[in-house]
Amino acid sequence: MKPIYYPEPFRIKAVEPLKMLTRAEREKKLAEANYNEFALKAEDVYIDLLTDSGTNAMSSAQWSGVMMGDESYAGASSYFHLIENAKDIFGFEFIQPVHQGRAAEKVLIPILAEGKKYAIANMFFDTTRAHVGLAGCIPIDCVVPEALDTTCRADFKGNMDTEKLEKLIKEYGAENIAVIVETITNNSAGGQPVSVANIRETSRIAHKYGIPMMIDAARYAENSYFVKKREKEFANSSIKDIIHESFKCADCFTMSAKKDAIVNMGGLIGCRSKEIYDKVKQRCISFEGFVTYGGMSGRDLEALAIGLKEGLDEDYLRYRIGQMEYLAARLDEEGIAYQAPAGGHGIFVDAKKLLPHIPWYQYPGHTLALELYLEAGIRACDIGSYMLDRDPVTHEEQQSAFEFTRLAIPRRVYTQAHLDVIVDALINIRDRASEIKGYKIVEEAPVLRHFTAKLVPLK
Ligand SMILES: *Cc1c(COP(=O)(O)O)cnc(C)c1O
Repeated sequence: MKPIYYPEPFRIKAVEPLKMLTRAEREKKLAEANYNEFALKAEDVYIDLLTDSGTNAMSSAQWSGVMMGDESYAGASSYFHLIENAKDIFGFEFIQPVHQGRAAEKVLIPILAEGKKYAIANMFFDTTRAHVGLAGCIPIDCVVPEALDTTCRADFKGNMDTEKLEKLIKEYGAENIAVIVETITNNSAGGQPVSVANIRETSRIAHKYGIPMMIDAARYAENSYFVKKREKEFANSSIKDIIHESFKCADCFTMSAKKDAIVNMGGLIGCRSKEIYDKVKQRCISFEGFVTYGGMSGRDLEALAIGLKEGLDEDYLRYRIGQMEYLAARLDEEGIAYQAPAGGHGIFVDAKKLLPHIPWYQYPGHTLALELYLEAGIRACDIGSYMLDRDPVTHEEQQSAFEFTRLAIPRRVYTQAHLDVIVDALINIRDRASEIKGYKIVEEAPVLRHFTAKLVPLK
């Protein structure tokens, strides 16, 4: 398909100048960062694709909300504004703001995990996986097999494998399973969407066995846009109707608002059970802050209240998903493999295919991420064996099903010309791929190691 770029449904009102270093300068910066892109200074990066989390550009309406934020400790009007909008969009009785997605996980997951042994998801995102483990449960992924084949262009590669789910429940015993999680979109599988049909079927199975169903809701709007485009039943539905249809299947949700709600900080917990909500409030007060601010300032609550709604705008979502589709179409022209079709928040380049000579234990996804920095000042990250922590029991390195280099695209931040710089860098790297060598970890933390690990290049 010819690359199409849907023009921005906004204009630029404030700019942030970027520094452009030379290759020699970047080599020095990367060595000083111990070959971990998280240790780079942002000012030394030209195009920052490390994450789409909290890196979004807020609108003029959100910035005026920031000025209007009510900073009262208890009962701030910004809290009520947020709760009203969140209830309206998600249709949940109880909503608790927290400061980000992992805070929602820290507060909610131990409540569900009490006395249980396992949790099953289509795929756990890394922080969710970590919090399931910290709560004493074993996280199990149960994604459809298409997700593991990067060249298979299925519509809903993020789906739960519902047949396997039922088998797993019988194998492990329903009474031992804390929660069944549907991550929408499926971040770790490449931002791949989950169909409403799959959410319904997952919910039916969970409830058949009396297990609570949770949505990991970071990309509630992007997922719904894909549903509208790809699931016939919803071709004429509004984004909000699709969100209602999806969320009505779940008993609770955790959400990182730093993604689709287009803010720089924030998160939500939703639940329907008063009993769970009471526990959520208690844990929130201990870990996050009082119930009516949940670790956020009033201005953050206000910006989030507005952003939750802005994220639903279809012109915006067409442009937003369109940026990924543009990148994907340009990579298709070049024969560069990625998790196809393009996901919602980024392009996940198949580093295993681009750097076939680098084995998984020398981290091809991480290697390509560093190479993009050296080539063009682009900061990306690994979603592969480097990101995966060691086996908690054997302490062996674990091989990931994927070796991706994730190019996460912040919302409303980069232009078409920036996207072209990314593609040109990948082309240059592809052309000298055989000369590129992998890396070795020399220092690592036991959990979420990729954030702080130190590495050396292999000779
Ligand atoms: C980002 C993300 C989280 C964690 O949220 P933070 O705000 O980064 O703490 C959890 N789940 C998914 C699917 C995410 O994308």
